[in-house]
Amino acid sequence: MSKTVKVKLSRLKFPSTCVVCMSPASRSYEMLSTVRHTTRKRSYVKIHVPMCGQHFEAVSFKSTGEKLVGVLGIFGGIGAWIATLAVLLWMTGQENLLTKAFVSFGASIVAWALIAGGLASRFAEPASLEARSAVRILNYAPRDDDLWLEFHNESFAEIMQRTT
Ligand SMILES: [Zn+2]
Repeated sequence: MSKTVKVKLSRLKFPSTCVVCMSPASRSYEMLSTVRHTTRKRSYVKIHVPMCGQHFEAVSFKSTGEKLVGVLGIFGGIGAWIATLAVLLWMTGQENLLTKAFVSFGASIVAWALIAGGLASRFAEPASLEARSAVRILNYAPRDDDLWLEFHNESFAEIMQRTT
């Protein structure tokens, strides 16, 4: 289970315990998130989450599988680009070659970012997934400075609620 806490971003202060396991925190992990309010308005929220050494390692650690997916993604992206461009040229002829090259490049990048992004997290170590999902920035209201954070660890969330 997880618990959501509403805090003021400018007065946000975490206890000095690890957000995952509640042991004394020795590192802080920087989390960035973009909160969309409307299609044009958005805020960038940056928080520093306290973690013990072990969970800081876990959160930053990329498994061999994740790295491999990243590398394959690059080659796959280039392959998909050439293939899409070839199909486009075959179907519509050779005029506007540059536009077609751009369009197919964009399409293959988006497709591969989605595939590689989804695949990479499947290959992540369970410990890193646990640490990465310890806190989630749910929403932010800039006018009232209200920030909603979701904590996986309910005891941590309760301390947050009591101290802010
Ligand atoms: Zn920890």
